[in-house]
Amino acid sequence: MATIFSRIVNGEIPCYKIAENEKCFAFLDINPLAKGHTLVIPKQETDYLFELDNELLAELSVFSKKVALAIDKAIPCKRVGVAVLGLEVPHAHIHLVPLQSEADISFSKPKLKLSQEEMEEIAARIRSFL
Ligand code: AMP
Repeated sequence: MATIFSRIVNGEIPCYKIAENEKCFAFLDINPLAKGHTLVIPKQETDYLFELDNELLAELSVFSKKVALAIDKAIPCKRVGVAVLGLEVPHAHIHLVPLQSEADISFSKPKLKLSQEEMEEIAARIRSFL
């Protein structure tokens, strides 16, 4: 069965899309730690990030860099933090989280509750810097 992230890539489940190329896809995390919290995934279904082949991992890293630099410009932050967990969704992904402080990337803290309009606005703003 397709992962929830493959279903997002295939358009079966809606998302706040940020960017896409042939092999990679980026969209806002639905339960953000901070405004602009984005997930970057390979379209290929692989559970563990470090099981991707070198070429795809390199491509995903370069794609993440492009998205992170756009987040940096779109969202007031000191820098964009990077995390890899994968404890919930078995489809490799990189979390990009705009940081004001270390606490902003603590996954045990309560997630933000943002309206659909706010999420759309944030996604559009990040896209405008790509
Ligand atoms: P983890 O697998 O532990 O890295 O966490 C998975 C992340 O995916 C969590 O931060 C969720 O909020 C996020 N997530 C799960 N389902 C969706 C979805 N449909 N759209 C956007 N983000 C999601």
